[in-house]
Amino acid sequence: MLQIENSAFAVDERGYYGDFGGAWIPEMLYPNVEELRQNYLQIIYSPEFQEEFNQLLTDYVGRPTPLYYANRLSNEYKTNIYLKREDLCHTGAHKVNNTIGQILLAKRLGKNKIVAETGAGQHGVATATVCALMGIECIVYMGEVDIERQAPNVARMKMLGATVMPAKSGSRTLKDATNEAMRHWINNPVDTHYIIGSVVGPHPYPDMVARFQSVISEEIRKQLFEKTGSENPDHLIACVGGGSNAAGTYFHYLDELSVNIVAAEAAGHGVKTDKSAATTFLGKEGVLHGSKSLLMQTIDGQVIEPHSISAGLDYPGIGPMHAHLWKTGRAKFYAISDDEAMQAGMKLSKLEGIIPAIESSHALAALDYLKAGSDETVVISLSGRGDKDLSTYMKYL
Ligand SMILES: *Cc1c(COP(=O)(O)O)cnc(C)c1O
Repeated sequence: MLQIENSAFAVDERGYYGDFGGAWIPEMLYPNVEELRQNYLQIIYSPEFQEEFNQLLTDYVGRPTPLYYANRLSNEYKTNIYLKREDLCHTGAHKVNNTIGQILLAKRLGKNKIVAETGAGQHGVATATVCALMGIECIVYMGEVDIERQAPNVARMKMLGATVMPAKSGSRTLKDATNEAMRHWINNPVDTHYIIGSVVGPHPYPDMVARFQSVISEEIRKQLFEKTGSENPDHLIACVGGGSNAAGTYFHYLDELSVNIVAAEAAGHGVKTDKSAATTFLGKEGVLHGSKSLLMQTIDGQVIEPHSISAGLDYPGIGPMHAHLWKTGRAKFYAISDDEAMQAGMKLSKLEGIIPAIESSHALAALDYLKAGSDETVVISLSGRGDKDLSTYMKYL
């Protein structure tokens, strides 16, 4: 794993990206988060951690994932498009890169239990997977409403040996599951590690998760050089829910200012409707889940329920690193509607024989806005595969 330090876009020693980040947590959570903050860098850059992490990424996850030149899609858009195939990771998406890293960290911190929260169940499955791999007890909090909506992922988690705890408070969805998982961690600080699934939460989580996911851009640089003679594409596109696949895709390009960094957010029915999840278009500065960032909120600071056709982008905030990339103009943000994403997913399936996750389809739809030139190179993070989304795609056939 390569390091970046001294970057204007990396986290500072206070845990901030410009104006965003920090650890806005209740007193009771301080010892847990502080233990992590003091130890994470030393642990993850130790040679024996790196060896075990890389071995599992190779033999268990199936890395490196291919960088695939999409010939027919390139002809369609009259440019040169490469897809980073995170959809080929074990469990079907990039999320497992992070859960592998965190389970290895938990072991070294002497923790023998894992707690996590999940919305649609994807992060819960990725967490239950690595707990099964390591023989570690796993408790996943999930809103009661989500448990009903996401039965296949609930079944997967149970099959993998995890306990799924219903969150019964509030709207009984992701934010309530997060609150209950945090409460569980406060009550079990000594033996339990909390695995957060994206570049969100109090410092050091956003930085730690970004570093685990940075294997994506480390591989892209090498693979693109082999294919084109240059490590740098002209454009780099990823979808942003919390922002972990995007953070991993951008990581080693943040200081390469010739690379146009593009983020695709979920506009839902459109940014002018009340059914959207496009945080940079609709959000204001505020604190959510332990960090200062942009989030969708009412004038008096109540979090607004987001909407997106893709469960993974249905989140009312973005990670602090992305808020900083937005505010500094380093990344360009597009709001992609449900319909635009579904059309882009259909197009990739027909042109390349690859059915993408609906989250990833948002990144593909950004091609329509980009207008990349015929001599330019575009790299798109294909964050996951679409098997989980077939019932939603079917309505668009
Ligand atoms: C969860 C998920 C996302 C969104 O999460 P990020 O942290 O923004 O990457 C995107 N794509 C897929 C396939 C997912 O499962």
